[in-house]
Amino acid sequence: ATPMSIMTATGRGAQAGVLIKDAQALERFAKVDTLIVDKTGTLTEGRPKLTDILTAEGTTEADLLVLAASLEQGSEHPLAEAIVEGAKERGATLLATIDFQAITGKGVTGLVDGRRIALGNQAMMVDLEVDVGILAKQADALRTEGKTAMYVAVGGKLGGIVAVADPIKATTKEAIFALRESGLRIIMATGDNELTAKAVASKLGIDEVRASVLPEDKKALIDQLHAGGAKVAMAGDGVNDAPALAAAEVGIAMGTGADVAVESAGITLVKGDLNGIVRARTLAQATIRNIK
Ligand code: ADP
Ligand code: MG
Repeated sequence: ATPMSIMTATGRGAQAGVLIKDAQALERFAKVDTLIVDKTGTLTEGRPKLTDILTAEGTTEADLLVLAASLEQGSEHPLAEAIVEGAKERGATLLATIDFQAITGKGVTGLVDGRRIALGNQAMMVDLEVDVGILAKQADALRTEGKTAMYVAVGGKLGGIVAVADPIKATTKEAIFALRESGLRIIMATGDNELTAKAVASKLGIDEVRASVLPEDKKALIDQLHAGGAKVAMAGDGVNDAPALAAAEVGIAMGTGADVAVESAGITLVKGDLNGIVRARTLAQATIRNIK
């Protein structure tokens, strides 16, 4: 690559809000054949809203929401913010939480009002040996709508479900289509469960989905693709995505996401808009062509 053509490309990118770290990142991105995209905050707005509260016998909606939201005050996860905001909008008065603990990729736990509360996904309830049977069908129905349904355990027993919905960004569908047209195999990877993940993927025409992926699994997925000879770019926004961004040929960070994600990335999309990836791909391929 001539230094001149690369400077031109990075300059054009910057004007469009696409920050390319160096010549290597640009050259590598032209040669990538596979793109892994994180769901939350990358394909979707990453600002979910509380939509549903379902209770098991012996709990009221108001009670369940206070317990869930009080616990989530200690978490910085977008899902936690949605639950806290949703509770405040519904007039709930939150309580103090002690002994708070976040379990990456699974959920949160702590003591609220003297009771042990756990809030998270199926895997978390399995770990805690909480039987979710009575509400499992309802949870799946919510997930089939593309919502994230989380179980709330109170004192070791299922208290209910809270669900949130995270809208797909207006620009995502078109960008995914253009990226596939540019010759990329697209794989969605998410910590979310399979039903929710597939509902979102099908709205976007993405047919390869890896669901219930723990942060360390995202890096393992890249290693597995590398073993098959793939050249991989990975787009993500979260603190959890940083190791995978660093392991890929090109890491693509949403500029609206976590600082560590941005530091691990070869390309940063200032506006967090996937059309920036389309632009970077076009620039990278044009630059490589000019050199040959
Ligand atoms: P993603 O890869 O989609 O950003 P995460 O790895 O952050 O997802 O989370 C995976 C799953 O773990 C979530 O879908 C949710 O069910 C559960 N989870 C994680 N953090 C929390 C939290 N603070 N409160 C409730 N559930 C959580
Ligand atoms: Mg995320």
